[in-house]
Amino acid sequence: MAVQDASVARLEGLKKGVNCRAVVVLGPPGAGKGTQSRMIAAKMGVPHLSTGDMLREQVGRGTKLGKKAAAIMQAGDLLPDELVNRMVRERLKQLDCAHGFVLDGYPRTVAQARSLDQMLGRLFGCGPVVIHLQVEYNELIQRLTGRRSCPACGAIYNVFLKPPMQPGVCDAEGEALSLRLDDQEHVVRERLATYENLTRPLVDYYRGRDNFFEVDGRRQPQAITDQMSALLGSVGWQAAT
Ligand code: ADP
Repeated sequence: MAVQDASVARLEGLKKGVNCRAVVVLGPPGAGKGTQSRMIAAKMGVPHLSTGDMLREQVGRGTKLGKKAAAIMQAGDLLPDELVNRMVRERLKQLDCAHGFVLDGYPRTVAQARSLDQMLGRLFGCGPVVIHLQVEYNELIQRLTGRRSCPACGAIYNVFLKPPMQPGVCDAEGEALSLRLDDQEHVVRERLATYENLTRPLVDYYRGRDNFFEVDGRRQPQAITDQMSALLGSVGWQAAT
């Protein structure tokens, strides 16, 4: 049996609802979705699924999808819903998602949220727990335009908020730090505008559901992770570690 068939069979065989631990981390670019999603996924022992990372991987590999994605991402726009929905649907069918996952950067439009509801209903018989990270505009600009990362070890710095010891150089690796192309200021402003127009309406889409939570994203990362863990504990999802 092919891996794909095996995983679908396994998913269909699961008692629907019992294993559904789908977390959606919602928030503007720069709110800390990536950092928090990774921490929460590690604590829960489930995969961290970032559509931004998946697309950047395609860009890096120079695939057909990657070529299409590169231009759109560099303009600060969103990929077409259908394309991203399909990418996520295929990912959720993989075996490692059978006991839950943390979604980062998806859904990003109301159409994607509707599609996710359908996928979760069909595959797992449940809805997501949604955590909305809130950070104000000026802080987002500083966080994003100041962000630099080490191509060797992935460490993240910020020229305003968390500078490396030597400007432009990774403390651990000595490598020159790089700026994500979409973190240039004009692209950042476009990404934030896209967020306001297309993604912010999602907050209203989810608000009012039982499992929707607002979290203040301006605090120290650890304090935010602790609050998110406590919220997940409150819906019965205890951390694996
Ligand atoms: P951020 O949240 O910091 O803007 P991401 O790494 O999540 O960055 O995404 C980078 C880019 O990838 C987005 O600006 C967008 O162009 C594209 N992208 C990621 N997720 C989606 C999605 N769900 N729908 C459409 N485009 C997406």
